[in-house]
Amino acid sequence: MSLIVQKYGGTSVGTPERIVNVARRILATKEAGNKVVAVVSAMSGVTNNLIKLANEVTGDADPTEREMDVLLSTGEQTTIALTAMALNAMGAKAVSLTGAQAGIKTDGVHTRARISNISPEGVHELLDDDNIVILAGFQGETLGGEITTLGRGGSDLTAIAMAAAIDADLCQIFTDVDGVYTCDPRVVPDARKIDEISYDEMLEMASSGTKVMQSRSVEFAKKFGVTFEVRSSLNDNPGTIVKEETMSMESVVIRGVSLERAQAKVTISAVSDTPGTASMIFGAVSDANVIVDMIVQNVSKTGITDISFTVNEADVGKAEEALKPVLAQLGEEATIEAQDGIAKLSVVGIGMRSHSGVAAEMFKALSEGGVNIEMISTSEIKVTVTVSEDQIDKAAQVMHDAFGLAEA
Ligand code: ASP
Ligand code: MG
Repeated sequence: MSLIVQKYGGTSVGTPERIVNVARRILATKEAGNKVVAVVSAMSGVTNNLIKLANEVTGDADPTEREMDVLLSTGEQTTIALTAMALNAMGAKAVSLTGAQAGIKTDGVHTRARISNISPEGVHELLDDDNIVILAGFQGETLGGEITTLGRGGSDLTAIAMAAAIDADLCQIFTDVDGVYTCDPRVVPDARKIDEISYDEMLEMASSGTKVMQSRSVEFAKKFGVTFEVRSSLNDNPGTIVKEETMSMESVVIRGVSLERAQAKVTISAVSDTPGTASMIFGAVSDANVIVDMIVQNVSKTGITDISFTVNEADVGKAEEALKPVLAQLGEEATIEAQDGIAKLSVVGIGMRSHSGVAAEMFKALSEGGVNIEMISTSEIKVTVTVSEDQIDKAAQVMHDAFGLAEA
């Protein structure tokens, strides 16, 4: 008998029929002789609708965060009840639990709380008593009993954290795709499902556009060594196993190619090359709550230099506005220029740690494909370039071919 944690995302439980389908899968897992805890998200669209309602009743003011959590937690509470009911109607023994009822304690940072502790005794008791436990994702409570939520996509975190707390044998994240792919199959038709990927690769792919799971939950899994599988709730195909890296994983240099569209580049030209300049620029941008991604500063020969950075296209206006008031202090002739229509292309693989020449190979392939590179940045296991958005599909295919990712 194995102890299995499964998680079903919003699309997997998006309609009554799909909830019944999920209930069947959960029951089949139980009937195969396992103990099952199933974490469910809100039905797809529900969380977004609740946020919309909150904005409608508050007008120009921001909804209070405590009440936001009371509101948002109802999405998952609906799904746990419906899923447990569906199971009970099939003659199974199922009990729904809110995050609080399952012993999930968090800090008090409403709408993006961190799990501080899980007391799983109640869950164990229910399982020992032959129940299927249906657990609400994305929520917990503070020591004082306040309802909290774990940030968007937080049901993944609930599943990983509960798997760690009850020392599950298996943690399966069911979603609407078959797993993690070598590239987005809508862009690169010969993209292949990856069988095994390390936590670090998964994190780098997520941060560069391959959004399969909430990053915080992958970080949590890495910290506590929770191996998990990402797989589809719509078929029985094996998914992608995400785990600690092994020696054999390093022999593959590039695991995957990620792309992210709708980026913009902001360039501040002729800033003085003196201490405090970068701090002033990024201080102003951060005060405007704009998240900056790649940053490039050139070496200065003349005492003035240029600094470029990328942001989401939607934030470029905010970034420009934030910089205008400080522009004069950045340099006598400093100017600011923004360009949208940019995309990021990244190649990711832990094999880069032990193989040289990946960047060179990447640039050669892009040049042969006629793709112009605008900015470049690297980490230990990732090389990212920005290109014009209208070249991104071609660039992705060229990269995928250059690193032979279509072949297993
Ligand atoms: N329902 C929440 C959201 O949409 C949590 C989740 O789906 O994981 O962000
Ligand atoms: Mg979701």
